[in-house]
Amino acid sequence: MHVAVFAFPFGCHALSLINLVQKLARAAQETQFSFLNTEESNNSIFLASRTNLPDNIKTYNVADGVPLNHGFSGDPIERVELFIKETPKNFKMALDMAVAETDQKISCLIADAFLSFSGSVAEDLSIPWIPVWIPVPHSLSTHIYTDMIRQHYANSLSYGCSNSCRDGNDVELEEKTLEIPGLSELHIADLPVEVLPRDAQETPFSCLLGQIGNMVLKVDTLVVNFYQELYPKPLLNDLKSKFTNLLNVGFISLSMPPPSLPPSTEDTTGCLSWLDSQKSKTVAYISFGTVANIPQSEIEELAEALEASRIPFLWSLRDNIKGCLPNGFLERTIMHGKVVPWAPQTQVLAHSSTGVFMTHCGANSVYESIANGVPMICRPFFADNKLNARLIVDVWRIGERIDGGFFTKTGVAKSLDLILQHEQGRRIRSRVQAVKDLVLKASARGGHATQAFKTLVEKITLV
Ligand code: UDP
Repeated sequence: MHVAVFAFPFGCHALSLINLVQKLARAAQETQFSFLNTEESNNSIFLASRTNLPDNIKTYNVADGVPLNHGFSGDPIERVELFIKETPKNFKMALDMAVAETDQKISCLIADAFLSFSGSVAEDLSIPWIPVWIPVPHSLSTHIYTDMIRQHYANSLSYGCSNSCRDGNDVELEEKTLEIPGLSELHIADLPVEVLPRDAQETPFSCLLGQIGNMVLKVDTLVVNFYQELYPKPLLNDLKSKFTNLLNVGFISLSMPPPSLPPSTEDTTGCLSWLDSQKSKTVAYISFGTVANIPQSEIEELAEALEASRIPFLWSLRDNIKGCLPNGFLERTIMHGKVVPWAPQTQVLAHSSTGVFMTHCGANSVYESIANGVPMICRPFFADNKLNARLIVDVWRIGERIDGGFFTKTGVAKSLDLILQHEQGRRIRSRVQAVKDLVLKASARGGHATQAFKTLVEKITLV
């Protein structure tokens, strides 16, 4: 068998997918896997995962669509749109190369479900197409029901809400819930802008996502980066009614249970040894992922709160944002804080000194926090962040939204105090521990996620 895998090269999608492919390649050693992704993304994920790939995985670079000598505007979505314009031609070319090099026809196509065109590629080759949904399944449902949601939103508009509602400024819209199976806990303001395009302007990215719902409903097998135990029942039932095999294989970017800490030689930024010197469950770990741009004023407020509160903190702050810190902040907080450009996040969250995670609510960060039983303080910024924050705060109740919705000196101090010192924080901690236990059970022998993974291996090896 020769399985081709199409990756979406932005955010942490490709890293999650290569993790799944590695697990599959170990479980199906007679099967050849060809992993197709842009060169830039391949370079970054193989640096990040630092592992040797099993012999039955080969990687191929696909064109990223960026013209030679292109000057970027600074808008991160620009790269996405250039790439989308290059699809599916770039993937088809790399696919031909994979077939020629291995001298094996493709027997199955696994693809990030964002790449909705991959269904047609599989159809042309008369092979099964198995899409993988990387974000939370609730957002898949928002794509399946986009037309209904847009109708709902149009009704809201007719009540007098303007597009400024999308910034969360309009209380009426903020509080409107979705009348969609399994999404009744979500509010319209939680939806990513691609589901409800600002000013009704479709972009190549919103069009691509807009096709997901229709394309994905054509398959009988869908892989989801999630645990069936974490769904609200109506959402699970609704998706199960649409897919014969809804394979919730668990958090694919993580090993469950999390591996023990790596040798200290891997701790290049000294985060883990610094955590060793702190007291149990006292440290606030702060990170906003790989893409989010945080306004300078909020960085300053957050920094002032950390300095004044004297709570031990470990802050992963990209070097390009470090310049926004108040003058002298690093020197004044050296006794109780550490700022690094990159932290070994999963190990940091697994460390016994970590007491809370201040996060932008990217799906991977949320999953890593759950897998390690760490409560969250949520400051969502973009994409699915708001939707994830809603699940954390109001559905699973394993974290708190930052007081006031964005970073202020008093809000940060209040939120940290609530989680680290108060009874409410203790209850949140015990709930996140319970969710962690659920997930561990599902990943153990005989658990739902393990069973789903076995089914997936059968699907790709017995086609
Ligand atoms: N990450 C990390 N160290 C850092 C910052 C981020 O290892 O200092 C990893 C983190 O563990 C997660 C990913 O980067 O796996 C961020 O993914 P997420 O989905 O949370 O956010 P995105 O970057 O896609 O917005």
